[in-house]
Amino acid sequence: MENQQYPSPSDEKRKHRRISTSNEVDYILLDERGKKVRRGKGRTLNLSQSGALLETKEPLNGSFIILVTFDIEGNHVQIKGNVAHTRKSDKPEFFLTGLRFVGSTRDQVKAIVAFVKAYYRSKHAVKVFVQPDNTATVYCRWCNKTKEIDVSRFKGHVNCKVKCSCGKISRVQLEFRSQFRKKTELRGSYRMIDKEGKPVDAGAMTVVELSRKGVRMEIREFPLDMAPGDLVNIRFNLDDNVQTRIDRNVIVKNIHPPYVGATFHRPTDTDNRIGYYLIG
Ligand SMILES: [Zn+2]
Repeated sequence: MENQQYPSPSDEKRKHRRISTSNEVDYILLDERGKKVRRGKGRTLNLSQSGALLETKEPLNGSFIILVTFDIEGNHVQIKGNVAHTRKSDKPEFFLTGLRFVGSTRDQVKAIVAFVKAYYRSKHAVKVFVQPDNTATVYCRWCNKTKEIDVSRFKGHVNCKVKCSCGKISRVQLEFRSQFRKKTELRGSYRMIDKEGKPVDAGAMTVVELSRKGVRMEIREFPLDMAPGDLVNIRFNLDDNVQTRIDRNVIVKNIHPPYVGATFHRPTDTDNRIGYYLIG
């Protein structure tokens, strides 16, 4: 490329080796003076040391593009390129833009390596959501067991390996979005459970706030004997496209009639449905 002087034969070879990837990236489109024109999301369809093909939902009319992704430690990695060409994709409603990378060869290689690693990571790792108390529930696809892990030992790394009691290792990608709470109006029911596990008092409630960690519910006819520490079974449906049924035991944390704050008792396989519902 123009900006690379005297490439060695091995550089030359590497430059033409394209890697088929499908990285989700953020892009920043710049005009010829380097002013930001637009920001958006796209996908790299292939990648080489000299450039990339970017698929987006909007035509990218500009001079430069900066691609942004995260490396294995969760740091931002970016690479800048010239817009070589932009055209409609064969796929309806998509556009393809060819990029020719600029900058030093060293920075380019560094960025490409990060992009390729990010691609393999997203291809094989399973996303798990981290709770505000720094725990995450990891599902083992070999033995179907779930395991709650303390993620503080990973010290901010978003990608890690977790060994199951069956001996298999799962690659996981930690998602720190769990503090996110969504205002909801999901009608359902509750049943208080006594120490013997028997249902004692039941009624209607509305989930008015939902997070990965638990719920805030409104109970109009407030049960007089509900107290912090009580175990309560709650059932409601998410208003997602399949009306996911949630049937969970929660522990009452705080009571401000008609509101009750409660945390989910044990992780279950609907946790990810709740997670996707929250970010969706
Ligand atoms: Zn296992």
